[in-house]
Parts: sequence; C-alpha cells; structure tokens
Amino acid sequence: MIPAAFEYYRPTSMEGVLALLQEHGDEARVLAGGHSLIPMMKLRMADVPHLIDLQGIAGLSGITIDGGTIRIGTMTTQHDIIGDAALTAAAPIMAEAALQIADPQVRYMGTVGGNVANGDPGNDMPGLMQCLDAHFHLIGPEGERTVAARDFYDSAYMTAREDDEVLTAITFAVPVGGHAYEKQKRKIGDYATAAAAVQISKEGGKVAAASIAMTNLSDTPVWSEAAGAALVGTDCGADAIKAAVAAMLADIDPTEDNRGPVAFKRHVAGIVLGRAIARAWSRA
Ligand code: FAD
Repeated sequence: MIPAAFEYYRPTSMEGVLALLQEHGDEARVLAGGHSLIPMMKLRMADVPHLIDLQGIAGLSGITIDGGTIRIGTMTTQHDIIGDAALTAAAPIMAEAALQIADPQVRYMGTVGGNVANGDPGNDMPGLMQCLDAHFHLIGPEGERTVAARDFYDSAYMTAREDDEVLTAITFAVPVGGHAYEKQKRKIGDYATAAAAVQISKEGGKVAAASIAMTNLSDTPVWSEAAGAALVGTDCGADAIKAAVAAMLADIDPTEDNRGPVAFKRHVAGIVLGRAIARAWSRA
C-alpha cells in the first residue's frame, strides 16, 4: 500500500528537530530506520503528516564503553551492534539478541532507538533493556532527562516519552556473569511468540543475582523481580528454574492472536525461559 501524503523534513541540528516537533505536535514523528514506522504508514495504521528524519543529526550513532558504563547512541543500527567486537566482549547478550531480530536487510536500517521508542510489545530490545536495567536519555524543549527502561513502558505503543522529546542514547552498566537471549518465533525474521533475556551472576556455586525479562507476553515487556529472586541463593537446579518460571508466568498476561491461544503462549513462555536460564547459568 501507499502511505497518505506527508511532509518530509531533514534537519541538521537537534534544535531544528525539537522546533519541528513543537510546531507540529502530535502530527509529527521522528524517523530513524523507518522499519517500523514506514510499514505502519503504508498499512494506514499510522497517519503522520510531518515526518522528521534524524539521519542528518550528528552524534546520535555510536557505541562507547567507559568506566564500566556502556553507551549506545539511538541511531546505532542492529547491524552496528552485531559488528561491534568491544560491545560483544562486554555485553554479549546484545549481539545474541540483535541477531534474532528480523533479517539482515531490516537490521542494516533498524536502530536501537527506534526499537525501544516504538513501544511495540513485539520488539526485542525493550525487554532486553529492562533485563540490563538500562536508562533511556531524552531531550526535549525543557532540556534533558533520563528514564529507567523498567519505567518507560505504559501500555502498547504508549511510553514515558513526550511527543516533543527525542531519545538520544541508552546507557547501562557492563553486565556481570552469564547471559542468554532465547526467542521462539513462527519463522525466520518473525517477531517473538515469546522471548526471554536473562543475566545471572554466580558466587560460590550459587546464584548471586539474576535479572529476567520477557517479550510479547503482555502489552509491555515484563521484567519479573520475583522470577530473578527465585533463583538467588540456589544452585540453579531444576526446582529453582521451575520456581522462576512459575513466578514469571504469574507476571505475564498474554492475549490470543495469530501466534496462538493464551495457553499455548504460556506454555512457550515457560519452555523459552527455562532454556534461557539454563544457558545463562552454564555461562555464569
Ligand atoms: P522507525 O521505524 O524509524 O521508528 C519507530 C518509532 O520510534 C516511530 O514512532 C518513531 O517516531 C520512533 N522513534 C524512532 N527513533 C526515535 C528517537 N530517537 N526518539 C524518539 N522516537 C523515536 N523488531 C524486533 O524487535 N524484532 C523482530 O523480530 C522484528 N522483525 C521485523 C520484521 C520485519 C519484516 C520488519 C520490517 C521489521 C521488524 N522489526 C523487528 C522492527 C525493526 O527492528 C525496526 O527497525 C525497529 O523496531 C524500529 O527501528 P527503526 O529505526 O526502524 O525505527
């Protein structure tokens, strides 16, 4: 399909972006890689009379690791993430997850900022960012502010970002211990039926800390404090994994759609999470 008519802007400064957002209010959207927004416009699920391309803004791309903190500019693509050796050494879960997003063509264009800003419950990066306890950095007419990924998602496509704010970067501490990103999908290139992001650290043969988040099982990503807590102090054996899975199943709220009925999704969630915990523990 062809999208409705729109005005296209390509400002070269953030001030220019913010001025356009203020001028056009909720009739304007920024454009990053365009691989969520343009399909929505073509399907007429999004009507965007004013489209503001971020490609001309310097300083929004790139990955830095400094003093134990990882910073990823929002225009960094999934392809950039997969190819960054330093990031993969510091936080291997990033590439493991990015490699399971769509296909190479989408990953060349799709940005990490667009993926987390979109608010689509099917996007993989929001749950991963909650697992990593990331923070999102925003700029708007009132200045800059930071929102925790765990506080960012209100409901499907509704986030803490104001209409006139732009996401500039994501930061998180270099994760400790073992990781796993496990995703079940109907076919290569598809969104998740269920996906799990897990980080586990080990001390004296026991789980010292665990962070667990899941994707596409509620209208927001689900970081389950109880699921992580169920593993802490255990040897991460079958009983502990069962308890963590039970805790997560109590926190998710899947709905029936073309990926299956609720009972199937809950079953898949349990399998996916059990595998992810076992793999993260084996790497801890
Ligand atoms: P855009 O489409 O440009 O923007 C998306 C939304 O975010 C828009 O509302 C835009 O205004 C807003 N936005 C973008 N950047 C900013 C910013 N810096 N500040 C504020 N708002 C911003 N994704 C997955 O996670 N998993 C998948 O399995 C998956 N499969 C896909 C399969 C196909 C065939 C396609 C086409 C896409 C798929 N995607 C998947 C989506 C893909 O990863 C998108 O690229 C990504 O979700 C959005 O990134 P983008 O840079 O393309 O954002």
